[in-house]
Amino acid sequence: MTILADDPTAAAVLAAVPSYPVPPSGRSPAIDALRQARAGHGLAVGHDGVMLILRRPWLALDVPVAPPLDAHLPYGSIGEPRADLRCGLIPADFLDRILEHFAAALPNEAAAFVVWNEATGEFAINYPEIDEATPSRLVYRTPALAADWHVICDIHSHGRGAAFFSSTDNADDAHSTKIAIVIGLIDPSKGPNIASRLCAGGMFLPMPRSPFAGGNDAA
Ligand SMILES: [Zn+2]
Repeated sequence: MTILADDPTAAAVLAAVPSYPVPPSGRSPAIDALRQARAGHGLAVGHDGVMLILRRPWLALDVPVAPPLDAHLPYGSIGEPRADLRCGLIPADFLDRILEHFAAALPNEAAAFVVWNEATGEFAINYPEIDEATPSRLVYRTPALAADWHVICDIHSHGRGAAFFSSTDNADDAHSTKIAIVIGLIDPSKGPNIASRLCAGGMFLPMPRSPFAGGNDAA
């Protein structure tokens, strides 16, 4: 077997985040194992780009992170991108319950997490401990979850402000793998203003659809 690094620490880093060339057939046992893993991430390098393959118990994400390579390479294709919820869609009434909670907190901002149990498939809402809440500022903590529970969505309101990701939100989300949602309740009678994104691999990706059952908009 080819030795990729002499130093054991470097070798461990490369083993933790492997990079595999795609064979002309488009498939290899190593890439299949990466795609089927419960959790982990690595790269597949094809003639048509570089795919980040990232897995969490609740998420299967294949996202191109480089354009097609100019050089002629005898590699296969990285395949189609995907962003699938392995946990399935979140029950529709969860969004209603969270919106009620946010409306009750007005004019202050508020937060909620949607969590999912890998063993039972159950979803739940976790209202985090709030350190500080005002109409324009919210400080809260990601919950410490019991085994088998995972944060799927980190949702906060901007009170009566518009929904957008602030620089504070960007800093908070940079190192997580989660769906981040901001809800603005400018005029609750007209419905919420919603912004969402998938945070993964240090990137912020657009959501192809709402993670909530019944919603087709990018929630
Ligand atoms: Zn915010």
